[in-house]
Amino acid sequence: MLPLRIPTTSITRSSRTLLRSIALQPTIKRTICSCPRPQPTTPTPNTNPSRPVSKMTQPPQEVIDYLKQSHDKIFDNNRKWAESKQTQDPGYFARLSEGQTPEYLWIGCSDSRIPAEQITGLEPGETFVHRNIANLVVNTDLNVMSVINYAVRHLGVKHIVVCGHYGCGGVKAAMTPKDLGLLNPWLRNIRDVYRLHEDELDAIEDETAKNNRLVELNVVEQCRNIIKTAAVQQSYAANGFPIVHGWVFDFSTGLLKDLHIDFESILAKIQKIYNLTE
Ligand SMILES: [Zn+2]
Repeated sequence: MLPLRIPTTSITRSSRTLLRSIALQPTIKRTICSCPRPQPTTPTPNTNPSRPVSKMTQPPQEVIDYLKQSHDKIFDNNRKWAESKQTQDPGYFARLSEGQTPEYLWIGCSDSRIPAEQITGLEPGETFVHRNIANLVVNTDLNVMSVINYAVRHLGVKHIVVCGHYGCGGVKAAMTPKDLGLLNPWLRNIRDVYRLHEDELDAIEDETAKNNRLVELNVVEQCRNIIKTAAVQQSYAANGFPIVHGWVFDFSTGLLKDLHIDFESILAKIQKIYNLTE
């Protein structure tokens, strides 16, 4: 199951209390499942001119106030951040405006609990970021392929990091033997990772340990997919970079684990079939 919910860690305690009190959660806390969903009904045309056209139902005032309040908080935070940066370093925004030369390309999961800059201490301008469900690098995904191409060929990043995380909802969903609709083709990439490492994963009896290992293997396979690209192979042959890294974030400790991807060994094996340097 892949729970989708409001990121309660990013809202205030009073907002959470309000959410509960106005019983908003049942409408926004949904779970993707295979249960049949109610189909939208086509409204009956109003053929009676004497019958007034019904107006769209307004949400409760508390909901309107809450939504407005959440935006206000973000703009307040933004103003404080900008003032703080400007005070600490008067030339900060002038330098940001000049352009970017990030050392890192970060490919992570969209999970709201893993903000790349916050967990690494990197500042704006130091990492180029792409995130999607379960940090996948899919050959036919024009989005991620454009990001890699631009980061390597134009920004000249020195490191590409694929960062997964234990407890990944995307990986858990892929392990759920159900039809997940639009997510099926995306999650199949993770199911393919399982198939590639079936013997190792089947030997792990504990479900959490099995999921954790699949998270790690998924990161390794996405690193392989990056190394298969022409941009990475050609830049490495010409410049000696970028290097590809596979990391996993652990919620229980807040720490990153380096899977110690053997970049050169993987590259050498890959280039027997996927050599794109000429
Ligand atoms: Zn995830």
